[in-house]
Amino acid sequence: MSTLFLRTLREDPADADVDSARLLQRAGYIRKAAPGIWTWLPLGLRVLNNIEAVVRAEMAGIGAQEVHFPALLPREPYEATHRWEEYGDNIFRLKDRHQADYLLAPTHEEVFTLLVKDLYSSYKDLPVTLYQIQTKYRDEFRPRAGLIRGREFIMKDAYSFTIDEDGLRQAYGEERAAYERIFRRLGVRYVIVHAVSGPMGGSQSEEFLAPLAIGEDTFAQSESGKAWNVEALTTPETEDVDFSSTSAMETLDTPDSTTIEALVAQANALHPRADGRTWQADDILKNVVIAVKHPEDDQHDEPWREVVVIGVPGDRQVDMKRLEAQFAPAEIEEADADDLKAHPELVAGYIGPMALGPQARGASEAGELAGSDDEEDVDVDAGSAVRYLIDAHVARGSAWITGADRVGYHRFNAVYGRDFEADGTVEAVQVRQGDMSPDGSGPLSFQRGVEIGQVFQLGLKYSKALGLNVLDHNGKAVPVWMGCYGIGVSRVLGCIAEFHHDDKGLAWPVNIAPAQVHVLATGKKAEAFDAAETLVKELESRGIEVLYDDRRKVSPGVKFKDAELIGVPLVAVVGRDTVENGTIDIRLRNGEQEESVPAEQAAQNLQDRLSALLG
Ligand code: ATP
Ligand code: MG
Repeated sequence: MSTLFLRTLREDPADADVDSARLLQRAGYIRKAAPGIWTWLPLGLRVLNNIEAVVRAEMAGIGAQEVHFPALLPREPYEATHRWEEYGDNIFRLKDRHQADYLLAPTHEEVFTLLVKDLYSSYKDLPVTLYQIQTKYRDEFRPRAGLIRGREFIMKDAYSFTIDEDGLRQAYGEERAAYERIFRRLGVRYVIVHAVSGPMGGSQSEEFLAPLAIGEDTFAQSESGKAWNVEALTTPETEDVDFSSTSAMETLDTPDSTTIEALVAQANALHPRADGRTWQADDILKNVVIAVKHPEDDQHDEPWREVVVIGVPGDRQVDMKRLEAQFAPAEIEEADADDLKAHPELVAGYIGPMALGPQARGASEAGELAGSDDEEDVDVDAGSAVRYLIDAHVARGSAWITGADRVGYHRFNAVYGRDFEADGTVEAVQVRQGDMSPDGSGPLSFQRGVEIGQVFQLGLKYSKALGLNVLDHNGKAVPVWMGCYGIGVSRVLGCIAEFHHDDKGLAWPVNIAPAQVHVLATGKKAEAFDAAETLVKELESRGIEVLYDDRRKVSPGVKFKDAELIGVPLVAVVGRDTVENGTIDIRLRNGEQEESVPAEQAAQNLQDRLSALLG
């Protein structure tokens, strides 16, 4: 340690928002270069290499072959799959001196596909799985949590190529099993959840989430043990409600009722229910305006913006993340003043389904708005009628209070399926404790997690877009089935630090720690340092990795603190006891299993403890 390039910090870095970021910086593993961009110091690099070694071993175990692509890639392949646009602001784009477009790859499906297309041509060449451990670049909106959401980060990405769908399923299964072994070996807890595929495309996908409260993902588990990312949660189909005795829809005055609470109060004050029950928030169908930012596509030469209204029960909030997942690759945001200006039929605070979607289109064909009972209706041209989507919790036949498209008025007893229709159903609202699981297997409970890996069955998306075909048994050209499989290697390091630390510092699992034994020479006596050196040599001759604190002018207190901060799993203290009694003090990083052993037995003792830790 007297020559190691290391400075431990006494103070927490000001902007460290999670324990792993705080401790990895304080213990001298990483340094911040820019938001979400990190420099690896010697200790950090050792841990990273150890993690990569586990990943490589398990990839080799399933016959995946390692390659290495550039991070800097030309635009064209990403253009062919539309991802140059679909990734939106998340891509770092740049131009070379000849003004040609390049990007720093956020992921590498395109170039893997092209490489196989370049070299392989027959079913006899398949199956093959290739992978790399590579630096990825994403201009994340909000880099945070140290290594956990970086803008430059390290990913293991693997891609399987098979002649048919059965082959894909098998490759997917092997990769998934390898992930389980990798995360077990790395000491990261994980839950496998059903996921949506997002901009990757494809069908079946699962995520590996590390259950951590600092995570940005929320997942749901049912009593059956199955788990879903909330983005992938679907509401079980609702049963139709019999509306034969629901009275006709009517438009009633509800002054100053632009919020749910105000509307509930006005409805109860002015229009009490006949059955004596009070009106509540869940009687209200709230219509929320969003803007969908579509990338350019076959019909549009440029990215385009669409205003959409979502009908949701008044007692639930819209979950923008879940909702957005269903518009992928488009992104969504709350509509702004210009969006509303462009659609005068949207009367802020009083928006209702009658001015939207099927009603508006039907009305404009018929020359008037359906359900209109007054003269203040706004004319909507059929072509520009706003799309109206309804949340999956809204049952057909259910009756609602909803906006009348007129300031100060709402429609009562508006029945979905009788008085109005929607253009489709969406999963729009926040799910909550006790909601039924998608497969009806029981009520859901929720936890936060960090996505450490994801496996996808891509199917034919990339091979079709990029023309990766091979000749099948009959000599016919067929597209190749693909899967892709990512692990966030640097993010996993951050998660391991989250799982394995205490208030004093890091506490690495032995197989990925920067060293296995931390030998501390303490005091001023040369004999102690000589004895420590003898122990270090003996440990090294046994193939054990040692971090040796040989600093002469550093106090024992500082050395102990540093050892706790750095987090090597086994600690041996060579000091006054060694000089006076010939013993060496051995303990675990957490202070447990402390024992004083004769110096000549120390190496064997440590080796035995190491074997026990490695289990
Ligand atoms: P997230 O939803 O967290 O942004 P993602 O689903 O976009 O991640 P993938 O495209 O599935 O990420 O990438 C594969 C893996 O790379 C992820 O499972 C994750 O472990 C890792 N990863 C993704 N983005 C980052 C990032 N910004 N920093 C560190 N690791 C990341
Ligand atoms: Mg993912």
